[in-house]
Amino acid sequence: MKKRHFFKIESGGFILTETLVYGNFDEFPAIDFPIDNDTKGALDVLKWGYSHYGDQLVYACSFGIEGIVLIDLISKVNAKAKVVFLDTGLHFEETYQLIDKIKERYPELRIEMKKPELTLEEQTAQYGDELWKREPNKCCEIRKIVPLNESLSGATAWLSGLRREQSETRKNTQFINKDNRFKSVKICPLIHWTWKDIWRYAHKNGLPYNILHDNGYPSIGCKPCTQPAFNADDLRSGRWTGTQKIECGLHT
Ligand code: SF4
Repeated sequence: MKKRHFFKIESGGFILTETLVYGNFDEFPAIDFPIDNDTKGALDVLKWGYSHYGDQLVYACSFGIEGIVLIDLISKVNAKAKVVFLDTGLHFEETYQLIDKIKERYPELRIEMKKPELTLEEQTAQYGDELWKREPNKCCEIRKIVPLNESLSGATAWLSGLRREQSETRKNTQFINKDNRFKSVKICPLIHWTWKDIWRYAHKNGLPYNILHDNGYPSIGCKPCTQPAFNADDLRSGRWTGTQKIECGLHT
């Protein structure tokens, strides 16, 4: 059973008109927000998200540059927001160093380092060595999807830093999305931000970021599945290079 919210947009703002309980997830309504010049709707979406879902709203952050920008925006709305990092045990050392910096800069944020049930050794014993080379979907399921599912159990909504510009698979993302995979609501405040917008905001606000971004890695995931991008027009071209895989499965 989930709560369903109805609201209308009026003169640059939104008004909640009705809240009721419903049982059919497929009835989730389409929602949109006005786009302002400063944050392209992101702050309004975050205010709406935290006012409606409160502690039920979880941010699943990969700590790429979009994630850092989103954390900074979130801190303006809810300094004690819950953030989950899917700690696969296979991330770059630079990513862990960045997370330490973020913890220092936003001490009130509640960052959970969510680990999979299987250690790498147990995964190797059960599925063989370097599963990500042979069955990356299975590896992502074990180390990302199942853990996120656990983190979202009890949560009715989650935040993501998806941008429409990132890839073909993301170009139709809305601010508020029905998420069939996690039976939840997925809120994406940055859909209208460009790569330049992200970096402009990061530099203007002196945000820390993963130094791998300066070394040709626009998109950073697990070390075995991430290389520098080889296509300047495709910022995710360094992910799962040489395979058909383009998403870890959290957003498909
Ligand atoms: Fe495994 Fe690669 Fe997915 Fe990380 S990104 S969970 S290493 S397949």
